[in-house]
This record gives sequence, structure tokens and C-alpha cells, in this order.
Amino acid sequence: MSDCIFCKIAAGDIPANKVYEDDDVVAFHDIKPAGDVHFLLVPKRHVESLAHCGADDAAMLGKLMLLVPKLAAEQGLARGFKTAINTGRGGGQEVFHLHVHVYGNK
Ligand code: IMP
Repeated sequence: MSDCIFCKIAAGDIPANKVYEDDDVVAFHDIKPAGDVHFLLVPKRHVESLAHCGADDAAMLGKLMLLVPKLAAEQGLARGFKTAINTGRGGGQEVFHLHVHVYGNK
């Protein structure tokens, strides 16, 4: 989507402090960290929210979930971490491109 900030980050059109990238996924530090470490895992393909996912998104969602502990460990969250997927305005979602928050203290 042309006006989506996470699509622009995924496309490399605006800068982000990336911690991981492959063909399907990009992960980057949140600009307002909720802990010593706070990054967002984002599918490159635009999906508005978890509530907009269907059966075709199962592989993408699985990939995101399996990357969470791997990247958390790489970012030094050895003691553990929190995850959040805010969904819809009532769920606190502010950027309407699916993303997984991963955050915690070292
Ligand atoms: P949401 O409330 O789950 O939609 O969270 C959106 C998150 O994106 C917030 O924690 C913001 O701080 C973060 N955010 C917004 N714009 C940027 C950006 O350009 N780079 C990194 N993080 C961002």
C-alpha cells in the first residue's frame, strides 16, 4: 500500500534500524522502545492485521512466530521477552500493517 509506513520500510523507501530481513519478512527496532530491546517483525506483503489473515497466511504467520525467539536471542533477550500483536483500534493498533512486537530487558 502506497501510504503504509511499514510497506515503505519493507521496500527500503524509508530508513529503519533493521535487525533481520529476508524475502518475506523484515524486523526493525521500534522508534518508541518499551524496554532495553523492542523490535517489530513485519511481513513484507501488506496485511492489515491479524484479523485480516486467512488460511493462505498460515505459513507467513508460522514463519513470524518461529523468528520471534531466534531474533530475541540474537538481540540479547536471554532472560525472556514479551510479544504483542495489537489488532484493530480497540486493540491499540496504530499502524495498520500486521506486526509482532517483541520487547524486554536484558
Ligand atoms: P501498534 O500500536 O501495535 O500499531 O504499534 C505500532 C508501533 O510502530 C509503535 O510502537 C510505534 O512506536 C512503531 N513505529 C511507528 N512508526 C515507526 C517507524 O517508522 N519505525 C519504527 N517503529 C515505528
